[in-house]
Amino acid sequence: MTWTVTGRKRGVWTVASLDWLFSRCMLDPSGCILWQLSREDGYGRGGVVHNGQFQLILVHRLSWELHTGQPIPAGKQVLHHCDVRHCVRIDDLFLGDNDANVADKVAKGRQYRPSSETARQMALAGAAARRIRRT
Ligand SMILES: [Zn+2]
Repeated sequence: MTWTVTGRKRGVWTVASLDWLFSRCMLDPSGCILWQLSREDGYGRGGVVHNGQFQLILVHRLSWELHTGQPIPAGKQVLHHCDVRHCVRIDDLFLGDNDANVADKVAKGRQYRPSSETARQMALAGAAARRIRRT
């Protein structure tokens, strides 16, 4: 598989490599490797030519393919352990399907339930207090 990626200069084309990817990233103190250029919905985005066609791709997906040397299987998604969408660190990426993504979100949501439950109770208490004041 060959990725060809646009260089900084218009009309100059360079071959995608981990060097290309990492030269556009910054190492975060948390260990995440963060894409510094454009983003879409929080995900890092870069311009590539793939199979002769220019397209914008999500760089965490590119990172996964560059590291593994394989295309992402059809129907699979590259997910983040770290929940940082513009992170391209391979240790933070894993392959899953939509079900895995939902299960992962649910598992992570469960972890935070105490605080959201507290927030809900506070909101209910606030509503009750407003009702009491009104009557
Ligand atoms: Zn990360």
